Amino acid sequence: MGLRLPLRRSASFTPDHPALLEVPGPAALKMEANVLVMGADNVGKSEFIYSHNLTVDGREILFHIWDVPCSQDQADQGSSEEKRIQWADSFVLVYSICDRASFNILPLKVQFIKAAKEGLSQEKVPIVIVGNKRDLHHQRVVSSEEGRLLALSLDCGFYEVSAAEAYHGALMVFHGLAERIPDTRLALKKGTRIRGIVKSMSAVFARKRTDSL
Ligand code: GDP
Ligand code: MG
Repeated sequence: MGLRLPLRRSASFTPDHPALLEVPGPAALKMEANVLVMGADNVGKSEFIYSHNLTVDGREILFHIWDVPCSQDQADQGSSEEKRIQWADSFVLVYSICDRASFNILPLKVQFIKAAKEGLSQEKVPIVIVGNKRDLHHQRVVSSEEGRLLALSLDCGFYEVSAAEAYHGALMVFHGLAERIPDTRLALKKGTRIRGIVKSMSAVFARKRTDSL
């Protein structure tokens, strides 16, 4: 298994809240984030496997995405899973709203990720929980409320989407993830090495954002 980047899509996501409107092109900070997509088999993880390039809140972020099938998870638990988790800056945990078992495994996954990542730093790990296949409402067995409550109790973001039906769902997820990744956790895109400048630019953007609230 390796990095899978079969498709490249670019999108600019404009949030509803005017205070979060993106800063125009040339000023955008180019950054990279490693995302691990985890979840049971057949929940729709593959729909999230794109190299997303998103401009969020003045930061242009290229997401490198790695999808971990659950079966593979079990086959080589231990060091390789640990390595993948260490590689990732942020996590998307997908379940299907039609598959109770895929939902039930999430608390353990989150616990495992937090144990592996938070031991090293005091920062919260950016994790977004995604209830997928929202379009299949007749087959729904996990309510939106259950999903939202679980995410709240685990301090994770939450979205319900139909990843296969609408690309917008995946965009929302990556936007939510970006909001949870502090600037300090993002690696600068290769070739951009002026860390000091980026830090001070982030400070300016942060101030702008506060000013406009
Ligand atoms: P993975 O095993 O988690 O990677 O799951 P896949 O991405 O291969 O998806 C499994 C199946 O679910 C495929 O047949 C997809 O077309 C289907 N699927 C994925 N997302 C959705 C969705 O939002 N709605 C519906 N109805 N089907 C979906
Ligand atoms: Mg897959």
